[in-house]
Amino acid sequence: MTSRSIYDSFNASAPHSLPELPYAEDALQPVISAKTLGFHHGKHHRGYVDTLNKLVQGTPYAAKTLQQIIVETAGKTSEAAIFNNAAQAWNHTFYWHSLRPRSERAIPAPLAAKIDSAFGGVDALKKQLSAGATGQFGSGWVWLVAEAGELKVVKTANADNPLTHGQKPLLTIDVWEHAYYLDYQNRRADYANTLLDTLINWDFAAENLAKG
Ligand code: MN
Repeated sequence: MTSRSIYDSFNASAPHSLPELPYAEDALQPVISAKTLGFHHGKHHRGYVDTLNKLVQGTPYAAKTLQQIIVETAGKTSEAAIFNNAAQAWNHTFYWHSLRPRSERAIPAPLAAKIDSAFGGVDALKKQLSAGATGQFGSGWVWLVAEAGELKVVKTANADNPLTHGQKPLLTIDVWEHAYYLDYQNRRADYANTLLDTLINWDFAAENLAKG
């Protein structure tokens, strides 16, 4: 295991490396199979990292951190390939940490209080995240974010990331088909609801909320 935190990987420049999963490939079973996690991390995530490294070679982006690349290429049509691969590299690392093996740990109090005031409770938040996951047309992500101190649920299409909209990501769910198709086929709602009930890493979300 590496001791580098995910935030270090977001602040690293090329060559970018594929971060290790924060748990074993079979640790999220039966909700997410080892086969899905193995392909998702070892093929899809690795593909974004490898492609990004090729694309930034010999460009000014070679010296920029992953997070700088995302912010500086967002919305620039000519840099769409770099943005898509950089954001997907970031989003997947963030997604792995948004999940954890099933746990009975309570939501940390400061986050729980924010959830209560924004949504009226964690069940209502889960409903919004589930609605976002099923309502996202095509590929994308659903996120819990903080914006101007307020929590909200947002969806992004394809590779897009709330950082480019002035929002602070707290946790995310990947709703690209490759995240669930081997286990759930077309039943995206089953994937999202089961994951929301069992695998959310509330400590990670609370840590992100507390960051400056
Ligand atoms: Mn994915």
